[in-house]
Amino acid sequence: MKAIKEADSEIYSHMAAELERQKSVLNMIPSENYVSPAVLEACGSVLMNKYSEGYPFKRYYQGNKHVDEIEQIAIDRAKKLFGAEHANVQPLSGSPGNAAVFLAFLKPGDKFMGLDLACGGHLTHGSKVNFSGKIYQQVSYGVDEKTELLDYDKIREIALRERPRMIISGLTAYPRSIDFRKFQDIAEEVGAIHLADISHIAGLVASGVLENPVPFTDVVSTTTHKTLRGPRGGLLMCKEKYAKDIDKAVFPGMQGGPHDNNTAGKAIAFKEALKPEFKDYSRQIVKNAKILADTLMGEGIKLVTNGTDNHLLLIDLRPLGIGLGREVALALEEAGICCNANSVPYDSAGPFKPSGLRLGTPVLTTRGMKEKEMEKVGKWIADVIKDYKNRDLIGIVRQKVQDLCDVFPYY
Ligand SMILES: *Cc1c(COP(=O)(O)O)cnc(C)c1O
Repeated sequence: MKAIKEADSEIYSHMAAELERQKSVLNMIPSENYVSPAVLEACGSVLMNKYSEGYPFKRYYQGNKHVDEIEQIAIDRAKKLFGAEHANVQPLSGSPGNAAVFLAFLKPGDKFMGLDLACGGHLTHGSKVNFSGKIYQQVSYGVDEKTELLDYDKIREIALRERPRMIISGLTAYPRSIDFRKFQDIAEEVGAIHLADISHIAGLVASGVLENPVPFTDVVSTTTHKTLRGPRGGLLMCKEKYAKDIDKAVFPGMQGGPHDNNTAGKAIAFKEALKPEFKDYSRQIVKNAKILADTLMGEGIKLVTNGTDNHLLLIDLRPLGIGLGREVALALEEAGICCNANSVPYDSAGPFKPSGLRLGTPVLTTRGMKEKEMEKVGKWIADVIKDYKNRDLIGIVRQKVQDLCDVFPYY
């Protein structure tokens, strides 16, 4: 960051401090990851100087010879990685990618189904404060109140009754695997488009650790910056028969020029994800999440669905008191463990004072941590949760976190 240091010392000092923060905390936010230096370089490159509205070899500006090649490589790698018939690598992030899918298949006011936010859905799956819930009519489905699992019979029942134009599957805080085949079957039965939003789990899907919906699903959307460990960005994949609709919806429907620097970052991340090491990485993410879950439950901490199939866990703090998520998340942050407060299914405390904590293992696994470290970390988390007002304890855990971070450096 030599040039930044000279040009703008104020921004430089904050960036340097942020780098230090990322190195010295246990980042357990399940939607985050630490990208490779190669991806970082691509995103900060001269490719950001280019305008390239359109698609490879069909552009509105001159000078796209190299950008064409880069975007085509990104497309080809995405198709190979997920076995997709068609891929669009231009969505600027997950939300604009989903917006493009709505634009492609729904008219304003049309009905669609999405997982309730409090049960683990995403804002773009129909939240009232989001375009998806403002412009379109959401019919929500949830998880079963007792098992906290998706109930496919119930989802089918709602779909048959409501006849939505689109059904969205996907999660931000559901710690279990999703039966995408069942969603596709239900969608076909009622004549709806099925959008599988694999934003959180894309890396686990790409490496075959979780089921890949791409070969049989109408449209699949994802971010590239979560378990897939690429730059911030989105990716849409679909059956060939929807290729034109999707491409037109992304550009010119939803966006202007693509961010070519990030497209290059995506291409590099896809190459990394095609390597055998990425399979090992993905398997270790899930192994680590399971050990962490077992450790926490062994300490008497309640987990939503009593465990995990993927990279994330959702702690239910209600046995300790309702609405404690933020307080406990703050205590954990002071102890050097970064996670986020999150609603749990049927949370009576509401979204502003959630009763849960969401955490995951992608970053710790990127740093090389394994089962042994998860047992330690799980014990520290349990200690802080059970005694979150104890300043001395928080200080002791902070030191242990620092020592562990020093053994697993990154950047
Ligand atoms: C993260 C996420 C998104 C949105 O991605 P942004 O890049 O934050 O816009 C959409 N859907 C799901 C399921 C997600 O987890």
